[in-house]
Amino acid sequence: MPKLFRLGFVFLCLYALFSNFTLWGEESLFTPEIASSPLVQKLFSFLEKNREKIIEEWIYLTEIPAPSGQEEKRAVYLKKQFEAAGLNEAFVDRSGNVIGIWRGSQKGRKIVMPAHMDTVFQGVKEIKVKREGNILKAPGIGDDTASLINILWSVRALKHAGFKPKDTYYFVTTVGEEVGFLGMQAFMEETEEKFDLVIALDGDLGKVHYGALGFGGGRITFRGPGAHTMQSRGVPNPNLAVAKALERIYKIKLPSKPPERWTILNVGMIGGGRVRNAVSQESYFTVDLRSANQEELEKAQGKIRKICEEIASEVDVELEMNLNKSSKAHQIPGARESFLVETVVDILEFLKVRGIEVDPLGSTDANVGIKKGILSVNLGRTYGRYKHSLREEAEIGGLFLAMKQVLLLVCSLNSQ
Ligand SMILES: [Zn+2]
Repeated sequence: MPKLFRLGFVFLCLYALFSNFTLWGEESLFTPEIASSPLVQKLFSFLEKNREKIIEEWIYLTEIPAPSGQEEKRAVYLKKQFEAAGLNEAFVDRSGNVIGIWRGSQKGRKIVMPAHMDTVFQGVKEIKVKREGNILKAPGIGDDTASLINILWSVRALKHAGFKPKDTYYFVTTVGEEVGFLGMQAFMEETEEKFDLVIALDGDLGKVHYGALGFGGGRITFRGPGAHTMQSRGVPNPNLAVAKALERIYKIKLPSKPPERWTILNVGMIGGGRVRNAVSQESYFTVDLRSANQEELEKAQGKIRKICEEIASEVDVELEMNLNKSSKAHQIPGARESFLVETVVDILEFLKVRGIEVDPLGSTDANVGIKKGILSVNLGRTYGRYKHSLREEAEIGGLFLAMKQVLLLVCSLNSQ
């Protein structure tokens, strides 16, 4: 028996060796030799040489306001830059996305690299970037203008170094990301290309998302007849229904692992009644429910519904439920162990990026690729603070690391 066991082990090892270690997932394409190659050295020194120009253009682009739905000015600028950089094609599509295509060989992969042009700052007409040492301050400086600069300068660096891609790249600077990935969805629906990979740039440096987070929950309202406190004995009280519902909703068991089933909920708002001396006629609360897994999301959603219905009949109040159905969770089986994620993680470790986190909880343009079954990741743009607020900050050094991340990834993908 021990002999048989040993034989089995040897067989397993041989299998692993000849099948490229697929037993334990795919292999990373990154090697330290790639990082020390003359090509990569040339790319990195190009970035350093142009450090001030890069920062200047980052500031310039950030100061062009582009709230969702009003991205035209940025689009005009980016299209011009894609053309000047020498991409094979550069155009604005029907939705207002800018597409820059860099053709590789016939046999290469087709890779989409999106970053979003829009910001959440509706009505902000004037933006002035403040520079304080290694920090830039302005609404939109990080999210996601840093990624637009990343794409522009990665392309320029690669062109400057005479890089010849095997893969064909579709650089897509998107509209309407902040309001539901609108531009990316339109691009993926209208195109006839079959894409192999999506590499989106958004979020904090060091964070890697390989799945699409699903959103659920909604607003739940209980209604009753109301009454003066003096006549309130036995009158159904919607406030009581809210209290009872919350008690039970927080007892729902939600998985925290594995990461592919991770689920969480939060009751962020509650309210009800108008005066102290009357029974509330209407009381409500909101649930923000999020999950990596659509089945878990729907299961939790179902439990919330059942609890609210039971409570409504127990307290004898009317129930109105407005539950979100819009944004589904999606995962690509094996994505965590895929060559793409392994390569990205190796690169981040090589660059000594701090706070590396790899999870399936993305909420970026990459979600659109994942929903289509395309292996997709989202990579960070820089370190920052106060995202989606007027006092947003971004680190200059972080953008340079994020650009190196992209360049090393492109070179690693080109090595095979
Ligand atoms: Zn963003």
